[in-house]
Amino acid sequence: MPITYYSSNSDIPTVTRDEEFMSMALEEARKALKKGEVPIGAVVVCEGRIIARGHNLTETLTDVTAHAELQAITAAAQYLSGKYLTNCTLYVTLEPCVMCAGAIGWAQISRIVYGASDPKRGFSRFAPKAFHPKAKISAGVLEKTCGDLLSSFFTEKRKG
Ligand SMILES: [Zn+2]
Repeated sequence: MPITYYSSNSDIPTVTRDEEFMSMALEEARKALKKGEVPIGAVVVCEGRIIARGHNLTETLTDVTAHAELQAITAAAQYLSGKYLTNCTLYVTLEPCVMCAGAIGWAQISRIVYGASDPKRGFSRFAPKAFHPKAKISAGVLEKTCGDLLSSFFTEKRKG
């Protein structure tokens, strides 16, 4: 999907910044897909720019904790040389699981934006208060693209 940037002579963006950053998270998800991983990707944005990226690496690293969000959070903390990501927004293609929601809370991330919902494993069912109390949550950004990428992966996997 092409990314359309703000036109300087228009106040109305054709693509919101949330969609722009979610497209970058989708790029990460596609990197996971190429490695045979469940296609989930994440980026961390600070002051309007991406400071860290991550994608699911649970198969590659043989590690159930190697979720996209945790890869991105670790990279962001390294980039900032600080463990708290207080002024950061995390974009992730799928609703974070309980484990990642815990990490997002520990990192004090101030805003979480996700694409597709995960009714089975998502935090909102099991740990709706895991985030920092002041954290803002936006759901459903590029939801269909994020969800389709996952469902086509699982359809292919069942065929194979
Ligand atoms: Zn997770």
